[in-house]
Amino acid sequence: MAEQYDVVIVGGGMVGLTLACCLGGSALRVAVLEANPMATDWPADSIGLRVSAITHASRKVFNHVGAWQSMVDQRVTAYGEMRVWDAAGDGIVHFDSAEAGEPSLGCIVENRVIQSALLQRAAEFENIELMIPARWQQWHDEQDHVCIRLEDGRQLRTKLLVGADGARSPVREQAGIQTKGWGYDQHAVMAIVKTEQSHQHTCWQRFLPNGPLAFLPMHEHYSCVVWSTTPEQAAELVAMNDAPFMLQLGEAFEYKLGRVVGVCERGRFPLCLQHTLDYVKPRIALVGDAAHAIHPLAGQGVNLGVLDAAALAETVLASHTMRRDIGLLQNLRRYERWRKGQNVAMMLSMDGFKRLFGSPLEPLKLARNVGLNATNRLTPVKRLFMEYAMGDRGDLPTLAR
Ligand SMILES: Cc1cc2nc3c(=O)[nH]c(=O)nc-3n(C[C@H](O)[C@H](O)[C@H](O)COP(=O)(O)OP(=O)(O)OC[C@H]3O[C@@H](n4cnc5c(N)ncnc54)[C@H](O)[C@@H]3O)c2cc1C
Repeated sequence: MAEQYDVVIVGGGMVGLTLACCLGGSALRVAVLEANPMATDWPADSIGLRVSAITHASRKVFNHVGAWQSMVDQRVTAYGEMRVWDAAGDGIVHFDSAEAGEPSLGCIVENRVIQSALLQRAAEFENIELMIPARWQQWHDEQDHVCIRLEDGRQLRTKLLVGADGARSPVREQAGIQTKGWGYDQHAVMAIVKTEQSHQHTCWQRFLPNGPLAFLPMHEHYSCVVWSTTPEQAAELVAMNDAPFMLQLGEAFEYKLGRVVGVCERGRFPLCLQHTLDYVKPRIALVGDAAHAIHPLAGQGVNLGVLDAAALAETVLASHTMRRDIGLLQNLRRYERWRKGQNVAMMLSMDGFKRLFGSPLEPLKLARNVGLNATNRLTPVKRLFMEYAMGDRGDLPTLAR
């Protein structure tokens, strides 16, 4: 006998759990299927390698669903400034939250902190069932439901199946939804490092010929490094011993924070741009990286996913209140129209930045340095950039306002 749900979310990553929490406390019966067990406990002095720059808009969503305080209690580092400069010229731009009248531009949070806070919160809602670990084997459409068979033999029926299952989304694949995009022939090397000087609660980013190198502030003198470069250099940077790594990193960063004096963990991740042609099909919706993957140079990927989750929840709850079928394509289309345009605009801007700053052509080098300096002087343009970075622009879901 199949268990009956209104919404089944495949993927208990940051976006899938945000969606579950946005639907928490409603009259809908929700299940979350996550294939991998999740860590909720770790040594207090350890730092997770994967971190995200979280915008004000995402913070507001986390706060509305009741998960933010738990993230703050674990570890959140606010940053008030951002300094961006080009290795191939004198262009520099400095964003300061004080100019926007805000106490901060955003926060750096470890992904495991975000995920565990959302998991804890989701577990408190009676209408949410967490199935972890659980993996679906296959699903098929019935007239007004989707039937899902799990690997352990359980069967679920749902009015809406949501793919929050990451960039390789098996849900998207089985639904036959096509993607467009391209690889960047770049890997991001991530590392947690300790520097001689304080990071001054500032995000630092230097554009090097092979890609951007960012230092994101964490607690005390620790920073998370995101160094986008060729796959070959990335492999070398990850494989080399700590001492030469710290030396190369310090040099590449012009010793802005003094010497790099410690390194905890390192890993590398391939980068690509990917976008699905459809976010919805009858009884199917995609959110987060399942719908779009973006270059991390402006730290927007998960933030776009959080807004997808809040917008889909708002759409579904509105349909339910009006006693409409939440899985019908015409009701899901509102979500797609709402989020697709905004995600595409952000993805194309990031792609444009990546190409502009990666170009070895002299006229483009000159143009980008002039552009950085002009942005730095022109208060309205600078303000606009800051509002995008803080996630305060665009048609925001109610939970993000
Ligand atoms: C180097 C790097 C730096 C980044 N920095 C930032 C940043 O600063 N700020 C920012 O906003 N974004 C950043 N991003 C992007 C961000 O990490 C992603 O956008 C985000 O992790 C996507 O979350 P998600 O929940 O959509 O997908 P995922 O995190 O991929 O989660 C998908 C989940 O689905 C589960 N799953 C998959 N298949 C199944 C299945 N069949 N059954 C059950 N479960 C399944 C997986 O186990 C996983 O838990 C960065 C990305 C990279 C690569």
